Amino acid sequence: MTKEEIFNRIFPLACRYMRADVLKIDKEFSDKAFEAFKLLTKDVRFKGLDETVKTVDIFNLQPELTGRSEDLSFYLEGCEEAVIMATTLGVDVDSHSKKLQATDMGFAVIYDSLASSYLEFLTDEFEKELDLGEHTFRFAPGYGDIPIELNYIIIDSFGISKKIGIYKASNNLMLPQKSMITMCGLGKQSVPTCRNCIRLNSCSLRKDNLRCYNS
Ligand code: SF4
Repeated sequence: MTKEEIFNRIFPLACRYMRADVLKIDKEFSDKAFEAFKLLTKDVRFKGLDETVKTVDIFNLQPELTGRSEDLSFYLEGCEEAVIMATTLGVDVDSHSKKLQATDMGFAVIYDSLASSYLEFLTDEFEKELDLGEHTFRFAPGYGDIPIELNYIIIDSFGISKKIGIYKASNNLMLPQKSMITMCGLGKQSVPTCRNCIRLNSCSLRKDNLRCYNS
């Protein structure tokens, strides 16, 4: 894919992060965003790590936390194994983002939103290369009632800091900031739609005619 094609793919999600309506974006703004994206691609040092584990081992990581999560049980139900993925854009993105914040906050917001969206894109590509067969959609600690603290437990349990340089920071954040810990259940196909969501019958977003995804 060319840089332009990737930009066109990730820009709508970046606009959502900026709370901007992609249909109302003018050329001046999208040109500026493309400049930010070109800078971003120079800064990115993407790294990914995957670990296939028994699903029960995820629940055993810290049962007093995982046992409380109905979402984790719901999304991994029927899966004997799961894959845990850790992905990061690397530290250069953080340092460039900080420099931009000191000089041009508006541009820094664009850069940061594109970085989040690009991390999703690169993680999608990473996941595709794993050729997982039937699998659930990817989700992360912090999704629904899945405890965000699971990020730290996974980082420690799988030696992720040593292997690809994702470290624990304060307030459940990670360093580099553009890093993700995610997982998919294996052996069962499910896509991220309301139909497959544990909150389908109690969702407050749907009552307001909103959706997490475009479906
Ligand atoms: S909008 Fe759909 S996917 Fe999002 S929480 Fe509600 S039911 Fe679940």
